Amino acid sequence: MQSASHPAENLGGTSRLFGTQDLIFRSFFIHYYVYSLSDKSYMTENLMDKIISLCKRRGFVFPGSEIYGGLANSWDYGPLGHILKQNIKAQWWKFFVQERGDMVPLDTAIIMNPKVWEASGHLQNFSDLLTECKKCHHRFRADHVLEAAGKNPNDLKAVVGLVCPDCGGELTAAKSFNLMFKTFLGTNEDTSTTAYLRPETAGGMFVNFKNVQSVTRRRLPFGIAQVGKNFRNEITPGNFIFRTREFEIGEFEYFINPKDWESIFEMWLGEIKRWWKDIMRINMDNLVWHEIPDGERAHYSKRTVDIEYKYPFGVKELHGIAYRTDFDLSRHQTVSGQDLSYTDPETGEKYLPHVIEPTFGIDRMVLVMLLEAYHEEEAPTAEAGETETRVVMKFPKHLAPIQVAVLPLSKKEALAGVAKPLADKLRKKFWVEYDETQSIGKRYRRQDEIGTPYCVTVDFDSIEDHKVTVRDRDTMQQERVALDDLDSYLTQKFAA
Ligand SMILES: [Zn+2]
Repeated sequence: MQSASHPAENLGGTSRLFGTQDLIFRSFFIHYYVYSLSDKSYMTENLMDKIISLCKRRGFVFPGSEIYGGLANSWDYGPLGHILKQNIKAQWWKFFVQERGDMVPLDTAIIMNPKVWEASGHLQNFSDLLTECKKCHHRFRADHVLEAAGKNPNDLKAVVGLVCPDCGGELTAAKSFNLMFKTFLGTNEDTSTTAYLRPETAGGMFVNFKNVQSVTRRRLPFGIAQVGKNFRNEITPGNFIFRTREFEIGEFEYFINPKDWESIFEMWLGEIKRWWKDIMRINMDNLVWHEIPDGERAHYSKRTVDIEYKYPFGVKELHGIAYRTDFDLSRHQTVSGQDLSYTDPETGEKYLPHVIEPTFGIDRMVLVMLLEAYHEEEAPTAEAGETETRVVMKFPKHLAPIQVAVLPLSKKEALAGVAKPLADKLRKKFWVEYDETQSIGKRYRRQDEIGTPYCVTVDFDSIEDHKVTVRDRDTMQQERVALDDLDSYLTQKFAA
């Protein structure tokens, strides 16, 4: 049953009811380390541990429900993580929607009429085939166990006879397990009130296609974009925020006349490349463009490309793009009984629009930006000729959560009298942190560790000459800037 194979690998879009390969399985990932992120020498196996530790220490990401002992694979975004994620989403909306004339935004409900999931196939097919250990009762994806044992992952019967990777116990035959979270509407808990938390945002865009098209009077091709939370009861989540049971997706449905699909697919592939290169500014060598071959795509898809990333735990999916033909609209048309076709106002041609669907995992983009930003390098200390290792998060400046730190050289009131009003003024435009504790060297290191591009130091000269020292995060160069020019100085820096 292909449609059930690995929905966990997909972010809801590309090969939604179909899987891509997933070579790693949870008992192994800690030891499985083949790919290095780049030539950074400190990129060792414990890079993920370093990132997770930094995220907790500095307030990017906390373990979920921690005071109650946590909840497996749930994570909370802290103050800095929240801003970083918001910045990524803001750029996404700007690049893929606002700056184009052919895209409109949408925000639909998480709980939808269950018919939506009947039409999309999720009720019937959105499941994993699992095997359970008879001894420790851990559950595993059958295809993963088979693959790890060097067997054909599609030969599901062969799972009986294999042993539990955790304890060596006997494994049961593979059973189907639907990944949608169930809930009940109202007070009665029975099948008539059963509803589901959405496993993807696409459904909301398909059921609103007619509304949006008629209200906005868009002609094809045009797209509808949405960002929102999704829920999947994954059996093997893991690797920090890489795979969790609730996660955010940004995706869009781009409605087209089928005759144009090839060129439009290429256009979007090009835009996605531009997104990673110019907006996220990552090392493009860390991306793998995986063309899904015939036979591995969903039956309705004529082309699917998975965009993979060289994570410390292996090359795995980051996001994807799929040409889904008219599969979705035709299914919704059949199940709802509504006419969802489109009539070209010029040619009079009436047809069911086809769809190209790029999908982005927001949490995975956050993870990638954390991995790309992390650097360790030798930096001079206050002692002449001595160096120490500094950890610096080199986020692209337009994505950094804190943009400017205002640091009075000492806690003396005379300095606060200049520094505090300065911080308040800058806050109207930038995310600012004010810090007056500890030595200036330690404060610089603290700002480096959260990726603050500019530190503004107020010293005793500032009272006389109305100038401050601006330190650049990456070059560590310092420049004396007049207080009156500071706003435009920083604005120019962030525009670069
Ligand atoms: Zn076991």
